[in-house]
Parts: sequence; C-alpha cells; structure tokens
Amino acid sequence: MTIRPIRELGDPVLRTPADEVKKFDAWLASLVKDLVETVDHPGRAGLAAPQIGVSVRAFSYNIDGEIGHMVNPTIVELSEEIQDGDEGCLSVPGIWAPTVRAMHAVVEGFDVDGKPLRLEGEGLMARCLQHEVDHLDGKVFLDRLTGEARKTALRALRSR
Ligand SMILES: [Zn+2]
Repeated sequence: MTIRPIRELGDPVLRTPADEVKKFDAWLASLVKDLVETVDHPGRAGLAAPQIGVSVRAFSYNIDGEIGHMVNPTIVELSEEIQDGDEGCLSVPGIWAPTVRAMHAVVEGFDVDGKPLRLEGEGLMARCLQHEVDHLDGKVFLDRLTGEARKTALRALRSR
C-alpha cells in the first residue's frame, strides 16, 4: 500500500504539461497503483499523476464509491449545459470556489494495460474528469475562476 505525498500549488510540476504515456509497462502499472491507492480516501475525488510528482498523463478518480483510472485521456465531449458548484483540489488545500464546468463530459483514453477506455459522467464525475485533464495540461481549477469567485479565492490563497 503506497500513499504518495501530494504536491501543492507552487510546485512547478503542477504547472508543467504532462507527457503522454508511450509504454504500458511495469513502471506505469506501479504508478497507476499508487494513484488508485492514494485517491482511495474519504474526501478525495480525483488525483492526477503530476500531483504526486510524476509528469505523465494519467489520473485516478473516486466518485460515488467507484474508483478507477485513465491513461492518456482526451476530452471528446462536453455538454453546453453547465454546473457552477464549489470545487476544490488536494493541491490547493482549504480553498473551495464556485467553478463553472460542463455538466456532462466524455473522456477517452486507455487503461493501465493499454486497452481503450471511455469514461462518461454527469455532475461530480464530469467535474472530476475536467479537473483531472486540466492538471495534465498544467492547469489548476483556480485558472478557471472569473470575477468575484477568482478574487475571493486568490485573496484566501494569499492569506494562507
Ligand atoms: Zn486537483
């Protein structure tokens, strides 16, 4: 059982676009195992590899009791319908802010063995998929905020 420490905002790995996985090998299997074991905690919804310091395109999720992972994800569909509930991030502890996301999302990629995988979600799952793919592009949810929500979150961040 390996619970990897979580990198926090300010660590350059969170601002680096992650590399595509080229080999579905034992190293990847071990990374995915760590991602899955590290997200398997109450209050943890998703975890991208850069958050444990590994700059490759893989993430895990833990939504409504279902735990899974994806390698090399691509968002293939986002609904026009949006949601604007509070979002947070393990790498930005203590900050929650209303964040606009598509209500429905479809992501395609691969599982740890290189088999094609498609994930589809509404609400929280859709939010998680968009949040984790952002991490792989070097973005955090704060980048998605606008107006008052952004001001309030940045102020809270500064006063931490
Ligand atoms: Zn996050």
